[in-house]
Amino acid sequence: MRVITTISQMQKEVQLLKNENLSVGYVPTMGYLHEGHISLVRKAKEENDIVILSIFVNPLQFGPNEDLDAYPRDFERDSEIAKNEKVDFIFYPSVDEMYPSKPSVTLVVQKRVDVLCGSSRPGHFDGVATVLAKLFHVIQPNRAYFGMKDAQQVAVVDGLINDLHFPLELIPVETVREEDGLAKSSRNVRLTAKEREEASILYKSLTEAEKQIRSGERNIQVIISHMQSLIKQNSSGTVDYIEIYSYPELEKLEVLEGKIIIALAFKFSNARLIDNLVLTV
Ligand code: AMP
Repeated sequence: MRVITTISQMQKEVQLLKNENLSVGYVPTMGYLHEGHISLVRKAKEENDIVILSIFVNPLQFGPNEDLDAYPRDFERDSEIAKNEKVDFIFYPSVDEMYPSKPSVTLVVQKRVDVLCGSSRPGHFDGVATVLAKLFHVIQPNRAYFGMKDAQQVAVVDGLINDLHFPLELIPVETVREEDGLAKSSRNVRLTAKEREEASILYKSLTEAEKQIRSGERNIQVIISHMQSLIKQNSSGTVDYIEIYSYPELEKLEVLEGKIIIALAFKFSNARLIDNLVLTV
């Protein structure tokens, strides 16, 4: 496994891989790797000759009052994990390498961002799209792997790839969960012991909503209210949002049918967690 920290070196390596006709699977991350990231790496490994993992905590996608400085980081540990998973390259650029000066061009996402995290984190997906456009240009992957835990991100990246004609395939990967259902997240380490226990209610509320839908409930407000009261009764934090839309368009539903997403964001004292279920009704 090689660790590459400069764009020019990464570009050289990618050119060598292209010359040899090797397919590249790319897994973009912000590090502090866990089994969610590892499942993306394993899928990439199965489907490609070479796997490139990037670790970059992208300042552009954090709002002024968000946790950029507090975001957990541990490169030594991450590189051990990546090595064990037989990742071929880690691309680990510094902020100065990615943004040597104030960017002269940034992207603005037009669709699929006026709801869910897009409305409570203005500019977040513009930052995601901008950094991914840069990373896709540098790494030129055949396939890029994204977790469905961040389902809105998957929807936005789908638009980015189509609109800007990136010649790569987007591969969504199912959410990896703890035994009690909590979606694995780098931010889970910031939960107190009590919050960690409470946090299982988030996924439970999603599966309860699915059950309600499967047994015939079609009133979106009823389903959301039920989730809200379940979460409120069983946890100490605050609901940021609970919403239901079509997926991947993320449009309001007149009738609850087709491919839909039930998504939530929840604030504990020191961490904001998100989760969702995508299902076909
Ligand atoms: P992050 O480092 O949080 O930006 O995540 C990097 C990638 O890993 C994103 O595509 C995430 O959606 C994905 N990911 C994060 N957590 C999970 C999880 N629990 N299961 C599957 N994929 C995940």
